[in-house]
Amino acid sequence: MNTISRRACLAGLTAAAAGLPGLSALAQAQEKAQEKAAAPSSAPTILPPDPNTKTPDYKAPAGAVDTHTHIFGPNSKYPYAQTRSYTPPDAPLEMFRELHAKIGITRAVIVNATVHGRDNRVITDAIAQSNGAYKGIANVDETITDKELLALTEGGIKGCRFTFLGRLGGRPDMAKFNAVVDKIKGYGWHVDLYLEPEIIAEFVPILRQLPVPYVIDHMGTVKAAGGLEQKPFTALVELIRTDDKSWIKITGPERMSATGAPYLDTVPFAQALIAAAPERCLWGTDWPHPNVKTMPNDGVLVDLIPQFAPDPKQQQKLLVDNPVRLFGFAS
Ligand SMILES: [Zn+2]
Repeated sequence: MNTISRRACLAGLTAAAAGLPGLSALAQAQEKAQEKAAAPSSAPTILPPDPNTKTPDYKAPAGAVDTHTHIFGPNSKYPYAQTRSYTPPDAPLEMFRELHAKIGITRAVIVNATVHGRDNRVITDAIAQSNGAYKGIANVDETITDKELLALTEGGIKGCRFTFLGRLGGRPDMAKFNAVVDKIKGYGWHVDLYLEPEIIAEFVPILRQLPVPYVIDHMGTVKAAGGLEQKPFTALVELIRTDDKSWIKITGPERMSATGAPYLDTVPFAQALIAAAPERCLWGTDWPHPNVKTMPNDGVLVDLIPQFAPDPKQQQKLLVDNPVRLFGFAS
């Protein structure tokens, strides 16, 4: 207990002992003061996206879907959550549209970032203005009601995300995770999982038992330097090869790479995952790349697609057919 709250407690006890009114008012005032003191600053703590997007050499097929993107704010319209673990620079819908125009992508799945807490309006508003071109992944918790789930579903939400990362607040309580899974399963949703490689093996039996499909983000966030035979990666490949409920996002090479742009050391990993689940792999930019150490250029990321999937038939699956099936886009 810090000095302030101890003092508040003592004051409360004294008031209570004296039978004085106003105890709860005192406690409330104290709570308010503490909330104010704890409010994070709106100054960005992470890098902005690269504003000079390269025009990619690779032309994506018609209807290609960027299955992993975020929109940040603007904070003035969609305030960042008080509980956030980082503060992004605003990366609003207009900026996102410009990015996609530049890289030749017309459809997207917008994943609500932890900075927006459980306020999913930033996503549902973007979807509402997209004429069917966007779908979303929401942040929800075990208190979500059927009424809210129905409204989100009607608003184009196809699943919800769980981050099992120390940096983003640690592992969710598994009882709460299961409670959410139980609630969403009647709505055709899937779960989107941001896992650290160290816990993949531990999660394999849990994932195999899930009653809903699940998507693993960023190729399991393994490090390319660890090689193709590293245990978390072999466990991941085996899981997605054998479990029909699994989907894998071929995203985040900039997070995996040891060699840096153009991230060619990640190609064998992407190829192995695509070969393991050619019908259940997905591609995305991860724009605006929250919490990366070095900001990638999205044009460079697009030019990796034909390296990851040299066969145009596989590109069509990765970019169009697979996401259309999972997220329910018009085909
Ligand atoms: Zn992301």
